[in-house]
Amino acid sequence: MKLNVKNIRYLTSDDWRVLTATEMGSRNHEVVPTPLISSIAAIRSGTGVHRCISNLAKIGLIAKVKNAKYDGYRLTYGGLDYLALHTHQKSSTVYSVGNQIGVGKESDILVCASETGKQLVLKIHRLGRISFRTVKANRDYLRNRQGGSWMYMSRLAALKEFEFMKALREAGFPVPEPIGQNRHTVIMGLINAFPLRQIDKVGDPATLYGELLSIIVRLAQHGLIHGDFNEFNILVEEREEQDGDVSLIPTVIDFPQMVSIDHVNAEYYFDRDVACIKRFFDRRFGFTSDEPGPFLKDATKKIVKRLDVDVQASGFSKKMAKELEIYMKEHGVDGDAGDSEPGQEEDEVEDDEVEGEFEDIGTQDIDDGNTSLEGGPVVDDDASAPIDT
Ligand code: ADP
Ligand code: MG
Repeated sequence: MKLNVKNIRYLTSDDWRVLTATEMGSRNHEVVPTPLISSIAAIRSGTGVHRCISNLAKIGLIAKVKNAKYDGYRLTYGGLDYLALHTHQKSSTVYSVGNQIGVGKESDILVCASETGKQLVLKIHRLGRISFRTVKANRDYLRNRQGGSWMYMSRLAALKEFEFMKALREAGFPVPEPIGQNRHTVIMGLINAFPLRQIDKVGDPATLYGELLSIIVRLAQHGLIHGDFNEFNILVEEREEQDGDVSLIPTVIDFPQMVSIDHVNAEYYFDRDVACIKRFFDRRFGFTSDEPGPFLKDATKKIVKRLDVDVQASGFSKKMAKELEIYMKEHGVDGDAGDSEPGQEEDEVEDDEVEGEFEDIGTQDIDDGNTSLEGGPVVDDDASAPIDT
């Protein structure tokens, strides 16, 4: 499911209208009937709608589905990608999209750039990608859920990631700068660093080790447990100091599985995060600390702030958290890194890859200031689009 942005510039305003109409229709239709797409899109000429539909289907943004009762279309991941990018482009968050730098189990990571040329990261959440690969899982999935659920869950994951990144950043944690979120995507600052996984030796493992454990403890003092605190989700920048020493600056990423210290399994997740770091430092650097812990019950004796509570109040509700957690559990995405080596699928960040070609995503309509989706009856592509299915 590779993102190919080549066609984005050639979509007309009517194409966008029809794509948006298909998205809206899929909130309550697994297969959106063609007449419904037409009526939501409200394009005067009927043949115009059909031309747009066939255009969008040809480039894979919608797909024809024959239902028992009627024919219609569903929005594809590609279509959702385009809608999200279009919104980021209109809000001047993203100007161009470059290379893919990572493929996780449930996400794609690409470099992109702002209008001023600042390098950013686009993280596209793709929950349900795994289950769609197996027919049986797919069938169960469709039986148990409303249409469009993969979209809803991917949106929840993106929203959660963005809200936590904002809260953590404000509280002074070393996380990327949160820039924007739309639908199933998050835009954040690019960290010019490699995952800890790729670092073969460090001068003084004890310092980095101490720092990482202190982040785990500080997170707990802020009401949170990362839940996937492993060598793939810690980026380490080697920074040369004036005295010639190299210091290692960690940045923590990947927040969709974060849990509150009130979670029933909080202690399990906390201990697992600690164990991940201990095991990695032991195996990779031959560094073992004699000190036991840290332990959750000690860490939470001194609560600094309750970011878990703040985030709940700010838009990622308890109900959403629960829904996402259940889904991730069912699909084996609860960050159990110890057993499954999740990063084996991940591409590694190569220096020169980041310099690769960038594709502008501006459309002619937009360059003309003629964004005709605006003001029409189907305006639903701003960052605050409701995410209920
Ligand atoms: P997943 O949920 O799929 O594990 P991550 O957020 O952990 O996704 O990102 C996967 C990989 O992409 C990371 O291991 C890292 O190499 C790269 N990456 C993600 N975010 C950034 C960022 N802000 N800056 C640089 N590299 C990043
Ligand atoms: Mg990760």
